[in-house]
Amino acid sequence: MKLVSAELGGVQEILARKAIELDRELRNRDGIAIEKSADQMDEIQYASERELAIRNVDRESHLLRQVKAALRRIDDGSFGTCVECESAISPRRLAALPWALLCIRCQEIADRDRLEGAESLGESLRNAA
Ligand SMILES: [Zn+2]
Repeated sequence: MKLVSAELGGVQEILARKAIELDRELRNRDGIAIEKSADQMDEIQYASERELAIRNVDRESHLLRQVKAALRRIDDGSFGTCVECESAISPRRLAALPWALLCIRCQEIADRDRLEGAESLGESLRNAA
């Protein structure tokens, strides 16, 4: 499937803007402050804020990598092709998620794997507590 250049131009612009936006957000959060307080309630509050911030940074840097990969794929002509099975990613999916690297089927498999990973992580955390 070959996307017409006007369509692709729009996507490229969306991706480029998204990359800049994510880049800026990540830079703003460069130093995740390690605040210290004698008050234990404050400590707990800081710890959960820190954890949330770390999780956001994780998610955003992951997304930024995907956005940059999608931009590279526009350059090399592989945009819109699933990196896993090499079938075409549906235009509807690309309209919603221009940085999607996987077709919906491969994405579902990947999500399932990740979910299982997250569950077993939760399990080990519970066991550790
Ligand atoms: Zn696929």
